[in-house]
Amino acid sequence: MKYALVAAVILQGTTVLASLLPVHFKAPSAAHFFDLVQNDTYDFGCRPKAVPTDDGHFTLHALLTEGQIAYLTKEYEPSSEITLHRIDISKRAAIAPIGNGDRFQAGAVAPSGLGTKATGSTISSIMNVNEINSAIKGLVNAYGISTITLPYRTFNGATQTAAYVGAGTDKSKYRLYLSAGMHARERGGPDQLIYFISDLLAANKAGTGLKYGSKSYTNAQVKSVLAAGVVFFPLVNPDGVAYDQSSNSYWRKNRNTRSGTSGTSVGVDINRNFDFLWNFRKYFSPYTAPASTSPGSETFYGTAAASESETKNHVSIYSSFPKIRWFMDIHSAAGDILYNWGDDELQTTSSTMNFRNAAYDGERGLLGDTAYKEYMPSSDATNIKNVAAKTVAAMRAVGGRSYTAMQSVGLYATSGASDDYAASRGYSISGANKIYGFTMEFGYSTNFYPTLAEFNTNILDTNAGFMDWALAAIAVGLD
Ligand SMILES: [Zn+2]
Repeated sequence: MKYALVAAVILQGTTVLASLLPVHFKAPSAAHFFDLVQNDTYDFGCRPKAVPTDDGHFTLHALLTEGQIAYLTKEYEPSSEITLHRIDISKRAAIAPIGNGDRFQAGAVAPSGLGTKATGSTISSIMNVNEINSAIKGLVNAYGISTITLPYRTFNGATQTAAYVGAGTDKSKYRLYLSAGMHARERGGPDQLIYFISDLLAANKAGTGLKYGSKSYTNAQVKSVLAAGVVFFPLVNPDGVAYDQSSNSYWRKNRNTRSGTSGTSVGVDINRNFDFLWNFRKYFSPYTAPASTSPGSETFYGTAAASESETKNHVSIYSSFPKIRWFMDIHSAAGDILYNWGDDELQTTSSTMNFRNAAYDGERGLLGDTAYKEYMPSSDATNIKNVAAKTVAAMRAVGGRSYTAMQSVGLYATSGASDDYAASRGYSISGANKIYGFTMEFGYSTNFYPTLAEFNTNILDTNAGFMDWALAAIAVGLD
């Protein structure tokens, strides 16, 4: 059996290699990539990211087919400025296995995180979709936490569940909201969130603290995070995750077939489907493509703002928990904490230059220009940067991996993303609470399928990040 399992894991790895290959481009500046990242047929991961190198250049990671690699290699042949490099993954350890069966036995067994276990303990596989649901039931059974069944079924008929812990039954007492599993292939996000909540509950019950690598937290800190009220939605895209786990195809979108029934034309990118500047052709400069209208693209924006059940369910949480102040969406793979805004660079001086002002339609999304930058009051900008900085400091402190805090817009503008939608509500919906929006990009550049060791490192790093994010948010204020 043991050998059969190893063979199966190797076979899975081979299947991945056959379709999309990890590569990186290298150039003397981030600006060299601007034309390349406009092309919505290429897959740059969650959001394109230029990473500075030790020799003063920049790299841009991507997942490409053999055909695309051949085309682009030829395209860049005459240019000494941009070069394309394959990433040798032949020497990498096998990807972490997906659990088979149900380790939580339909909720009879509660999940138990790494922060409450002895140093060096590990989790042996990534949860399958059924296990994620069982894990929530396990927490209900062990700790009496409350769940909420979200109103819309997914395209493939899945019922979606969120849960809330720490602040009792009054939903207006909940201030923190975390979600994961929006992009199907970003393996480990749901696990990190569930194990983190499990740690909070176990430490609270036992009267102990938490320890993630070199980073420790007291029981008082655990209690303070719980008292802030934590809403968690660990599997935003169950159809996509089920498909990705069964196909190892680096699947990102949901599985809606209304706009396309085969291959990459299936599915909508949930993280371009939120009602924030969704109709990007109207709101953004024609010289940028923050999403795609093409069903075959990884960033296909859907058929209307919030056309997808997963998006509607994600948004319904704000109605159920009207006082959420801090939101984090968990993605991979880059090693960053991103904060608002993602549509353009942030500015704090002109309050009328904002996403609601039609005078700027057609101007948004170009970086390095002065025609448009997105407004945020300076006190909010100070707060959001401060919390992002504390989050990355905690993640670094766990085991020494470097993480960076930056604005979501990074190299490239996005429309319809969950973090900007969260932040937009306070401006565009009468009576809606102000929300600070974050995206955590755990892991390593375009390394969506971690090895088992990386999966465990990611749990430790992210869980410390969640703790310090919550503690920093509490310090800034919940009301
Ligand atoms: Zn993502």
